[in-house]
Amino acid sequence: MVIETFSPQETFAFAEQMARKATAGDVYTLIGDLGVGKTVFTQGIARGLGITEPISSPTFTIVQEYESGRLPFYHFDVYRIGAPEEMDEIGFEDYVYGEGVTMIEWANLIQEILPEHYTQITIEKDIAKGFDYRRITVEEVTRV
Ligand code: ADP
Ligand code: MG
Repeated sequence: MVIETFSPQETFAFAEQMARKATAGDVYTLIGDLGVGKTVFTQGIARGLGITEPISSPTFTIVQEYESGRLPFYHFDVYRIGAPEEMDEIGFEDYVYGEGVTMIEWANLIQEILPEHYTQITIEKDIAKGFDYRRITVEEVTRV
């Protein structure tokens, strides 16, 4: 599925709708350049899960947990990870195979350790269509 948005609010609202359908154990990955809207999308997912506290990028902690919503929400930003093996130390598998919803920004950096099934969200700009234009591609991925 491909959708186009023309403001951060539209991206947020699309993610919020998506989160309404989320169930325990769902894993979402976010791919896209710095400043493309991965955190905006994550904030929409959080709101759709009923989380009202502010969501910031967990840059220095790698993972941030939120327990106030309909399901636990685990927000990863793996931008600063040196190697996928570092994820073991923070208990990555316990989150991904746990009872919450997991969101991983920069998931392409830890491709090798992603679970068998996840929903991949790719966000791209197209400056020719305006500074606030984003193309968002949502794909179900099953690793072989
Ligand atoms: P990332 O997490 O990918 O580095 P952020 O979500 O932190 O990016 O920042 C995205 C920036 O782009 C924000 O300043 C946001 O306001 C802006 N923006 C402009 N248009 C859009 C859009 N259509 N969707 C999402 N963000 C947008
Ligand atoms: Mg971010």
